[in-house]
Amino acid sequence: MFDLKTLYQEVIIDHNRHPRNCHRLADADRVADGFNPLCGDRLTVYLKLQDGVITDAAFEGEGCAISVASASLMTEHLKGKTESEARAIFDRFRALVTGEEEAGAGLDKLVVLAGVKEFPARVKCASLAWHTLSAALKGR
Ligand code: ZN
Repeated sequence: MFDLKTLYQEVIIDHNRHPRNCHRLADADRVADGFNPLCGDRLTVYLKLQDGVITDAAFEGEGCAISVASASLMTEHLKGKTESEARAIFDRFRALVTGEEEAGAGLDKLVVLAGVKEFPARVKCASLAWHTLSAALKGR
């Protein structure tokens, strides 16, 4: 039988071992730092924007498997999205990981993190990259 949970875990392990877009963006238009004191996760999110569209996204940092995998998946997902789309995705992602929403429509691979809703302490790990993104979008 197709085991969704195992597949989800494999995607998270893969993104933790081989994080995508895990580097500094020297010519980033927006940068923000995020810290999750509960777990010790630290991330910096870099964005390149052109006419309101995220043309490149990257991150650097150290953290647990969930926080790194989430940042990796997030940066992959954001490229080509507008700033307002990115904010809307964050809202849906937050609803997904807090268990407010089951479906996760339009979240693609990000749904692999839905399992954290059963572990409240892990919700902050999964959300850190997104809160940092939100700060980066607000800042200059
Ligand atoms: Zn963590």
